[in-house]
Amino acid sequence: MVLIPVRCPYCQSAHVIQGGKTDTDKQRDRCRNPDCSHQSFLLNSAYKGRSPQIKQQVIDMGRVSHLLRLAKTVMIGPEGETPNGRGSDKVSALSE
Ligand SMILES: [Zn+2]
Repeated sequence: MVLIPVRCPYCQSAHVIQGGKTDTDKQRDRCRNPDCSHQSFLLNSAYKGRSPQIKQQVIDMGRVSHLLRLAKTVMIGPEGETPNGRGSDKVSALSE
C-alpha cells in the first residue's frame, strides 16, 4: 500500500482528512485549514473545469487573448484600418 500525501488544491494545506464518497463513488476530502475558502474538494473530479489549475489556465488564456486584441488595435487600428487610413488588404481579404 502506498500513501500519497494529499494537499488542498485551494490553500495547499496538508491538514486534509477523508470526507466520505460522492454519489459516483469518488473520494471526497475535507480541508481542515480554518482560513481555507473551500471546505471539501475532489482530487479526481469528473468535471475538470472545477480544478483550480484549469480555472487558472482559462484566466491565462483570457489574458493572452486580451493582449492579442490590444496588439492588433495598436498595429492595425481599432476597426481593421491601417494607420494611414486605408483598409488592410489582409483583413478585407479574410472577411470576404
Ligand atoms: Zn484548503
